[in-house]
Amino acid sequence: MKGDMLNKLLDQNKQWADKMDKAHPDLFERNGKGQQPEVLWIGCSDSRAGEGCVDCLPGTVFVHRNIANMLPYGDLSSLSVVQFAVEVLRVEQIIICGHYDCGGVVATMGNKRLGLMDNWLKHLRDVRARHKDELYSLETLKERCNRLVELNIIAQVHNVKRMAPVVDALAEGRIEVAGVLYDVGTGLLRTLEIPADSNEEDYLVVESNESVE
Ligand SMILES: [Zn+2]
Repeated sequence: MKGDMLNKLLDQNKQWADKMDKAHPDLFERNGKGQQPEVLWIGCSDSRAGEGCVDCLPGTVFVHRNIANMLPYGDLSSLSVVQFAVEVLRVEQIIICGHYDCGGVVATMGNKRLGLMDNWLKHLRDVRARHKDELYSLETLKERCNRLVELNIIAQVHNVKRMAPVVDALAEGRIEVAGVLYDVGTGLLRTLEIPADSNEEDYLVVESNESVE
């Protein structure tokens, strides 16, 4: 019936707030005064693959999630999240979390038109296109999708490390960036080895008062 879901959610919220308050008596009072998260989590919107897998309390993780955990150039939403998290909240850790069985990745390995979403997934098609030789050397679609999940995490780690606030924070040694892989079938997270960005210097821009001729 209409409204049943909302009522169920409101009931669950009351029970959750009560349970949290009993387990962490100072939590809501502290959160009522502000936030000091140490982690920025960039993950997929997938209902199974959220930051809840690290058992975090409210106030500890600043979050940005979208389809296929991407940070495309020109995406004001994710750029603003990164700038705020790094410059204002001064988080110590950025996590890019991808996951196997990602619908965005599966769609990107196919060629079915999906509408508006195709524009978003083009950023992921760029990753697929850059690595097509490797991807098509794999035998099954599942293997290709799993590898594209990993290649996308690597690409997004490189992307975030090219953003000016992150470049500065890395130079000051006050932040770390990591790529992690979440397995929706086990609930477990593992770190993904991120190769050095061979194009790092091509993306480096520095402040300069000198005029360019
Ligand atoms: Zn996903």
